[in-house]
Amino acid sequence: MQSERRLQALRGMRDILPDEIPRWQRVEATLAEWMQRYGYREIRTPIVESAELFYRGVGQETDAIGKEMYVFPDRSGELIALRPELTAPVARAVGQHELALASPLLRLWYYGPCFRYERPQKGRQRQFHQAGAECLGVALPDADVEIISLAWDILTSLLDHPAVSLHINTLGTVAEQNNYRTRLVEYLERYRDSLSTTSQQRLDTNPLRILDSKDTRDREIIEAAPRISDVLGTESRSHFDAVLELLDMLDIPTITDPYLVRGLDYYTHTVFEFRSNRLGAQDALGGGGRYDNLMAQVGGRPLPGVGFGLGIERIILAMEDRAASDSHWEPIVYVAAQQEFSAAMHQVTRSLRKEGIRCITDLQFRSLKAQLRQADRLRCALCLIIGWSAPVDSVIIKDMRNGEQLQLPNDPNAISATIRQLLAQ
Ligand code: AMP
Repeated sequence: MQSERRLQALRGMRDILPDEIPRWQRVEATLAEWMQRYGYREIRTPIVESAELFYRGVGQETDAIGKEMYVFPDRSGELIALRPELTAPVARAVGQHELALASPLLRLWYYGPCFRYERPQKGRQRQFHQAGAECLGVALPDADVEIISLAWDILTSLLDHPAVSLHINTLGTVAEQNNYRTRLVEYLERYRDSLSTTSQQRLDTNPLRILDSKDTRDREIIEAAPRISDVLGTESRSHFDAVLELLDMLDIPTITDPYLVRGLDYYTHTVFEFRSNRLGAQDALGGGGRYDNLMAQVGGRPLPGVGFGLGIERIILAMEDRAASDSHWEPIVYVAAQQEFSAAMHQVTRSLRKEGIRCITDLQFRSLKAQLRQADRLRCALCLIIGWSAPVDSVIIKDMRNGEQLQLPNDPNAISATIRQLLAQ
């Protein structure tokens, strides 16, 4: 009989295996800690949304929506999408629940999976995770600074300073952006035939994106292109200057990049991106910017906003390998028992766990040698032995860190007191 084909996760979608989980949990704990320190409250929105939310909020011409979004009709024929990002869903939720009515300044953060149908490569998957924060209700540069500083504090707690850099630009108001787009298109049309194929297409759909093309032919043409700074009015200019000055005052180093435009359509004024030199071609750890028109586009009352999104897989790739070294022992008790003592094993492990002590058992009642070997493999600091050579009504505690053993009466109170004492050493 032919065996069934072994099933695999979908292309571009990864399992996060138990060995990787401690690192994920470290990132998650750091995120939650910093978000709290800055006074941001977590919001959780559905993974699936109406496709229209992203068409209206983010824009059909962006790669994330036009080319990469997972869109399909559900059983009723409604066009739904797996969220490619979380700013539009958060803006939708704020409008839907009128969250801004109760408090005109909203500080929100999120964490969860996003989906983009991209060609998978290192640091690029079809399901990936983003964490981010949105500060809604304030149009002043102070909100941009708070958001950037929050992202910087998170990233530099997880990665060393030289491994993270902050690139920043301004896109001005919608009117200034439109004006600039016209000038840019006028200029680029003169070189249309020399541009890369992708840039030629973008010239018709999303010309600002040509500015961040990596193609060398494109770069030469772009170097001489008009810059957004040529069209900025005094207000936009002073907004950007204030952001740069405050960041400098906070010792957050910035690299001003006139070609930084970001992939999504909703940005106005400040845009920024964090990059790492520890990543290859996909070097963006995250980014964000100001989006003063998004709320109105997704049907809520107009509300200025600024936010960032960080790619968790990229952060984890860029983190130094800090795998537990061999000398590391876990504060876990391995309870080794002979089968005839199974009742005692269940009793003692349950009472230890209720006291907050982590313990694990063999559940197969293998030989003492096999169980001790397993305790060592799992780096359990202590092993509680029930049965074998221990006299009736007593147990043995073996300290796996130094091999010392001691005998105790089989009494839950005595056992937990001794274990606590040993674990505290
Ligand atoms: P974006 O919303 O495109 O600015 O993405 C924000 C961040 O999410 C990026 O800087 C990446 O770190 C991460 N990211 C975006 N797309 C992917 C992907 N396909 N796979 C892994 N991470 C991604």
